Amino acid sequence: SLHLDDIAVTFPGLAAPVLHVPALDIPAGDRVVVVGPSGSGKSTFVNIITGLERATRGRVNWDGTDIGTLSEGARDRWRGANIGLVMQDFHLFPGLSALDNVLLPARLSRVADAAMVARAGALLERVGLSRPGQKVETMSRGEMQRVAVARAVLRDPGVIVADEPTASLDPENGAAIGSLLLDLAAQTGATLIVVSHDPRLAAQIPRRIALADGRIVSGTIGEPVA
Ligand code: ATP
Ligand code: MG
Repeated sequence: SLHLDDIAVTFPGLAAPVLHVPALDIPAGDRVVVVGPSGSGKSTFVNIITGLERATRGRVNWDGTDIGTLSEGARDRWRGANIGLVMQDFHLFPGLSALDNVLLPARLSRVADAAMVARAGALLERVGLSRPGQKVETMSRGEMQRVAVARAVLRDPGVIVADEPTASLDPENGAAIGSLLLDLAAQTGATLIVVSHDPRLAAQIPRRIALADGRIVSGTIGEPVA
């Protein structure tokens, strides 16, 4: 489970924090969609809960581990082992094929075996990409987005965090990504936290957190979904 306590993210010269969450619990296995206008703090929320960015104040605790107390290297290893992350700008590695991008984190962690290579290929097919050898820099944004999703779920992470995973996709491919994320979460019991403006994806996710100006304005955990 995720527990946030007294989180504030501030930047010099800004009057108000870009994220301010006094308390939030997301139980293990929960599925949550994070919504809110552009600039409301959704990606900042993603960066904070995954330890990509450190809050100015407060604690981020996953299953008893306060990730703010970890060294940068330990935090990177913790993220790799525990979180499947789809970033808003994909963070793919140019020069590498789609397949090698999907496998790279597993290879760096020395956990990629033949079964994982096969699974990577199957995931690319499942998201509608039939050319695993294509270099990612030659792909369309929507194709890159699907590579990023395949990479995030390759290792059956206990937690999937995806920032606008269908933003560059047409309805059909968006639905395929949505069902992939939801099916995997259902199969493995993973916690799923998805930032999305996609009403069809959001409608399939049972719990909603709405951000406005860096604050949770509705859907604090414990409340029923509106
Ligand atoms: P979008 O829907 O456009 O992706 P978002 O909800 O993800 O928006 P964030 O990227 O979290 O928004 O940004 C929240 C606010 O924090 C924005 O107003 C942004 O300008 C501000 N912000 C983020 N990083 C910094 C920074 N390093 N310095 C100053 N302001 C920042
Ligand atoms: Mg964002």
